[in-house]
Amino acid sequence: MNVLKTALREQRFVCVMEFVPKPSAERFAAMDAILARGHLCGWPMTVAIGDRVGSPLDMSPLDALASFSNPVPALPHFSGKDRERHHLLAQLQRMDAAGLHQLLVLTGDRLPGHQPGERPVRYLESVAALQMARQAYPHWLLGAALNPFKYCEEEGAAQYFKAEKKLAAGADFFTLQLGFDAAKHQEAMHWVRRQPAPKPILACLMSLTQGRANMLDHVAGVTVTPSMRHMLEAEAAQSKAFAQARSVDRLALQVIGVKLMGYAGVHLSGIHEISQLLALEARLEHWQAQITDMAQWAPAWQASWQMPGLPAVTFHPPQAAWRQGESRVTATLTQQARYHLMHGMHSLLFSRRNGLSQAFGWAVRQPVWSTRLGAQVLHTAERAVKRPLLGCDTCGRCRLEDTLYICPETCPKGLANGPCGGTALNRCEFGDRECIHSVKYRTAKAVQQTAVLAERLIPCIEEHTRHRSSWPQWFGAPATRATPQSAPRSQPGS
Ligand code: SF4
Repeated sequence: MNVLKTALREQRFVCVMEFVPKPSAERFAAMDAILARGHLCGWPMTVAIGDRVGSPLDMSPLDALASFSNPVPALPHFSGKDRERHHLLAQLQRMDAAGLHQLLVLTGDRLPGHQPGERPVRYLESVAALQMARQAYPHWLLGAALNPFKYCEEEGAAQYFKAEKKLAAGADFFTLQLGFDAAKHQEAMHWVRRQPAPKPILACLMSLTQGRANMLDHVAGVTVTPSMRHMLEAEAAQSKAFAQARSVDRLALQVIGVKLMGYAGVHLSGIHEISQLLALEARLEHWQAQITDMAQWAPAWQASWQMPGLPAVTFHPPQAAWRQGESRVTATLTQQARYHLMHGMHSLLFSRRNGLSQAFGWAVRQPVWSTRLGAQVLHTAERAVKRPLLGCDTCGRCRLEDTLYICPETCPKGLANGPCGGTALNRCEFGDRECIHSVKYRTAKAVQQTAVLAERLIPCIEEHTRHRSSWPQWFGAPATRATPQSAPRSQPGS
């Protein structure tokens, strides 16, 4: 029986235990014991198996699954880190053969050791991977990630636009990034309810102690604010046992909170022993007897984040506190001028509608460019023009028209469809630049093209088509687009 699919269909609150495969027999035995219990507070339970959480050499989710003494219908993850289309298709086939018909598709965080500008590392984008999986297996249960814990307008709005693409690509449910901000949990729930076909959401939760907050410093896209940290330190100063008990209590309250908000279930991270599960269950039972609505829940949640003598905890960073629906930013005049210049040049040369474009198209489709030398010359010419102008890597299929002329190759992960979850106040997960999708959002907003960010599903670039000129392919492709020319649209949440 597929626990997750059944629970989502029957709208029963579900508990997904996160398991990160490590070569440790004790870890497997401990998760076996948790899964043998089969439920938390009577809620059905299953397991999700992380993929490449540490490194590409991690045990694969399918190998990990085979190592459990009682294999269960788990939810494997697929991370696009350092992967191509054929890796996904191979995993799908293996899963099909094993009778596993559910998958959580992620782009993945930064591959350890990946430095921009050094060895190019490709990331198979979650939007494209979802499309492939949906096309290959129309009836599978497919999940996608969403990170609503964003506090600048650009990064937050871009997350939701990308989530719209994930829905269009075939996502059946969302699992949120780990987070502690109840207002953002509410925000994500309101967003999904406004979608034409709302899908269930699972909240990823963890009991938070000072030690874990320190560990999360190294996890991109997770927000632990200074005031949260001060309170965790004060708890730890009292005693380890006190801090531990408070963290479990908060986790129980958070589970109850997201359940009251309408979440379909929880994705529990950091529970490795049956004793931890039982401790959580005891606190859940305690609070469930006292809390039946959000009015009762809110003061209990607030109290769980208070320590005598400390100011109130805030869950947004001190520098920013954007909420969905707030609209403040716009592109600079330079960014707008750049867009209009690029758009004008693109229309002139690549629209296929005017004489110059048609002549250019005719020229680059001549047989001479199909020869080895001709192809090299054309590749060099395109690179010489577009690299200094746009950061182009001559990927062989130009996506600039779909990315507001901001080249996806300038994202260290090469993402075209929208941001990964790793931004922090618009800064890229790699720390060396502003996230290109934040710039893209400001530009799209200023030129009234935000529909592009939600509607244009951009396929992945195949490995074998890279590093060649895109021009012959552009003019050989049909002139009509898969998605309609975008019209101005309102901001998310407005
Ligand atoms: S540019 Fe944005 S999407 Fe690309 S890696 Fe950096 S944070 Fe992620």
